Amino acid sequence: MTKPSIVVLGSNFAGLAAAQKLREYAGDDVEITVIDRKNYLLFVPNIPSEILDYNRNPALTMHMDIIHPLAEDRIRFVQGEVMTFDVDQQTVEYVPTERPGAAYERLHYDYVVFALGTRLAYDAIEGFAEFGHTVSDTYYGERLRQYLHQEYRGGPVVIGSDLFHQGTMTQNLVPMASAACEGPPVEMTFSMLAWLRRHHPRSAGSLTVFTPGETIAEDAGLNNVSALLKMAAEAGVHYKNNVRGIRRLTAEGIEFADGSSLEAELKIVFPDWRPHAFMKGTPIVDDQGFVLTDMTMRHPRYRNVLACGDAAAVVVPKLGYLAHITADMAAKQIAMDVGRLDPAVANIPPHFVVNCLGDMGDKRAFFINSDTWYGGTLEQLRAGSRVAYFLKMQYKDLFFRYKGKVPEWGIPVANFIASEL
Ligand SMILES: Cc1cc2nc3c(=O)[nH]c(=O)nc-3n(C[C@H](O)[C@H](O)[C@H](O)COP(=O)(O)OP(=O)(O)OC[C@H]3O[C@@H](n4cnc5c(N)ncnc54)[C@H](O)[C@@H]3O)c2cc1C
Repeated sequence: MTKPSIVVLGSNFAGLAAAQKLREYAGDDVEITVIDRKNYLLFVPNIPSEILDYNRNPALTMHMDIIHPLAEDRIRFVQGEVMTFDVDQQTVEYVPTERPGAAYERLHYDYVVFALGTRLAYDAIEGFAEFGHTVSDTYYGERLRQYLHQEYRGGPVVIGSDLFHQGTMTQNLVPMASAACEGPPVEMTFSMLAWLRRHHPRSAGSLTVFTPGETIAEDAGLNNVSALLKMAAEAGVHYKNNVRGIRRLTAEGIEFADGSSLEAELKIVFPDWRPHAFMKGTPIVDDQGFVLTDMTMRHPRYRNVLACGDAAAVVVPKLGYLAHITADMAAKQIAMDVGRLDPAVANIPPHFVVNCLGDMGDKRAFFINSDTWYGGTLEQLRAGSRVAYFLKMQYKDLFFRYKGKVPEWGIPVANFIASEL
């Protein structure tokens, strides 16, 4: 008998974890293939600290090889661009990306796991290429680092997000958010403030953080956010809410969708997290193009289609921690189907929590752990903590050392230590 063929699309946090967990839970009873256009994992969360705390090119430190870890688990890796898929024929079409000119290939699957993340739509922000900065990949991170040290003259700084267009078909499972992921603007605000104090002390009072919504990082717990905003205000940071989105960036500043504007020399922005164009209109997505799933991460109709991480409609905010737990859930479901995991274990839905360690500069960080966004009562915050910063750095080291397989005790122990500070 041939083994079920599992194809995992994407190999960053969600895809790598799904493939590794699947091998762990299902053993060698399944064939696993992973497809990603690049052959390394981009460790996004620590890019800000690489630039602002260590003044390092993040491309040198934030890429982790995925070819060897996957090979060690007998997982086939294809470096290719996923182009289309057909859920009735159970096929995926991709084109190898190592050299241009490669021919399209088609792969049959028994199960497919969508872990393709999203498309960060900087190209939808007028003026971004000329006047914008960001930290969501190593290219932009390095560009910001060069700008700060070579061009920045100490003028006003704005940091914030564009409006997020969340699909409406999972409203019964997760609330509607105005921004996809506002941990990064909050952490950039504190760490940029620390950087300004060191390099341009007179400019530290000219930093504004903005949000398209009523409250920044509303998913992190309203009491947590009030406490962080109070700290920021006491440090001289200005706050602008309800801007409804970014209209355009100019040499002079930023214009918002609500008609207001701010003067700024440095504009650090986060875009709309959009689904990939080829996902839109397919039978498995919501009204925006995010993959529809229930809380077991399976499509309600196509039960052999699963999704995890940022690509999944129920994952809001778009957060690495949620990528980790939804990948685990998807792997458990497939392992259950092939008879390797007890349904009583495999069907326990993941507990969604906004869990985040954010850099605040000067080797301090905040720790947020809250499930109020999902209707719970958990709301923890530790801010300005050296231990939280140590944990953030240790997590990255642990992740690289164990090639993505962070020991089971890693996150609970980090949470315990952070909450006991
Ligand atoms: C600046 C910043 C800081 C952050 N900090 C934190 C933090 O502190 N904690 C936290 O929990 N989260 C944080 N996040 C969020 C976190 O980075 C994301 O939630 C996480 O990366 C999602 O993982 P993913 O695997 O679902 O998607 P992605 O990381 O987007 O990975 C998607 C993968 O799919 C591949 N891919 C996409 N399209 C194709 C295609 N057509 N063909 C082949 N391959 C394709 C990509 O190459 C990529 O490898 C931060 C985000 C940003 C921008």
